Amino acid sequence: MEIRYWNKEVETASPERIKEIQLERLKKIVAAAFKTQFYSKRLPAVGINSPDDIKSLDDLRRIPFTMKDDLRQSYPKGLLAVDTSEVVRIHTSSGTTGIPTVIYLSANDLNAATDLMARSITCTGADKTDILQNMMSYGMFTGGLCMHYGAERVGMMVIPAASGNTKRQVQLMKDFRTTVLHVTPSYLLHIHSKLPELGIPLKDLALKKAFIGAEPHSENTRKKLESLYNIDAYNSYGLSEMNGPGIAFECQYKKDLHFWEDSYIVEIINPKTGELVKDGEQGEVVLTNLIRSAMPLMRYRTRDLAYLHTEPCECGRTHRRMSRIMGRSDDMLIINGVNVFPSQIEEVIMRVPEVGTNYQILVEKQGALDRLVVKVELYPKMFLGEAKQIEQVKARISDELKASITIKPAIELHEQGTLPVSEGKAVRVVDTREKL
Ligand code: AMP
Ligand code: ZN
Repeated sequence: MEIRYWNKEVETASPERIKEIQLERLKKIVAAAFKTQFYSKRLPAVGINSPDDIKSLDDLRRIPFTMKDDLRQSYPKGLLAVDTSEVVRIHTSSGTTGIPTVIYLSANDLNAATDLMARSITCTGADKTDILQNMMSYGMFTGGLCMHYGAERVGMMVIPAASGNTKRQVQLMKDFRTTVLHVTPSYLLHIHSKLPELGIPLKDLALKKAFIGAEPHSENTRKKLESLYNIDAYNSYGLSEMNGPGIAFECQYKKDLHFWEDSYIVEIINPKTGELVKDGEQGEVVLTNLIRSAMPLMRYRTRDLAYLHTEPCECGRTHRRMSRIMGRSDDMLIINGVNVFPSQIEEVIMRVPEVGTNYQILVEKQGALDRLVVKVELYPKMFLGEAKQIEQVKARISDELKASITIKPAIELHEQGTLPVSEGKAVRVVDTREKL
């Protein structure tokens, strides 16, 4: 197999060289952090009074973790290190209209993120002769624009198809001879089930690869996609807080994801104690972004659970590989690629005066896609009135949820006392999707 590199020197650098780059960059990031309201208080609190106090990579551990809540509480500008005139782009996490976490990028930051994206694309063996159809949603979500910029940098022809509209997607694939897709695995499975009714056979398509990410999926799902479409599917991991996709990506060997360690410091911790786990053990991924100075973020707790491989990869890259994401250390649900916290749902339904005291959130598979059902109990008097009235409550709950979590769930209304009650801690979420 011919191995393609975007930046061979960095991708195959010795672990010692990578550590040198990390330290040099960390010092710069700490210097930027002192310009933010948030870290200018937090760093002195642990005895770091200037960037010069960072003398070795071990000093990173003196910096406390940064949590998603810190980002929310710093909204909108508490983590901004530069004047807004220096910012060229903002993004937010998917599905967070209610509780935004915003990311700022300067021109340099965007350039670095784009370069890593190009590196990630190239490490799958794709190149400028490929045609990439980007089926992630454009807009605030990073999966659209960030992938787009990286693919353009590689020189690929990019089709900014965005998400949804299956018929149009398949037509675009056919008409423009798309070779690479960037898509959530659930949507790609769904498209396959629609091909017969769309009347476009697979042989009319020129697909070779898919970059699949934004949501957890198993090795079996990857294999299934590969055999259904006769393609290679590469796992792509990212999160908006770290700039979006292009943080860890599978290479041509498809044996888990290379973390770009010159640009991110990765730590795997025990989510309960915060201590580093032993090499190769599963824990929570904690990331320090070394390539963004407009909005520095250090030791960010992703809540994603994974482990690092200790053995080298056949491709020659020295950057360590991370397993696929095995779960979360919080209760965040990912529904068709969109992040949803059960607390956001509770907040909305408990505002509705007709809603009683109990509710349940069900997440299940409907075909290849995820389906969110919110079951709520209504006060008994609601069932004495007209059916129309009940339908109106249903529509109201559904609209308000859509406004908060960006996806529209199915709503089931139940009589008071009919949903299961647990005697201990309430079981509010039932997720019947495949466990990894
Ligand atoms: P967002 O900030 O909206 O991009 O969402 C980021 C989150 O999506 C991550 O923290 C993960 O929980 C999830 N995610 C992204 N990529 C993957 C992937 N390849 N496998 C599993 N989960 C993923
Ligand atoms: Zn590799």
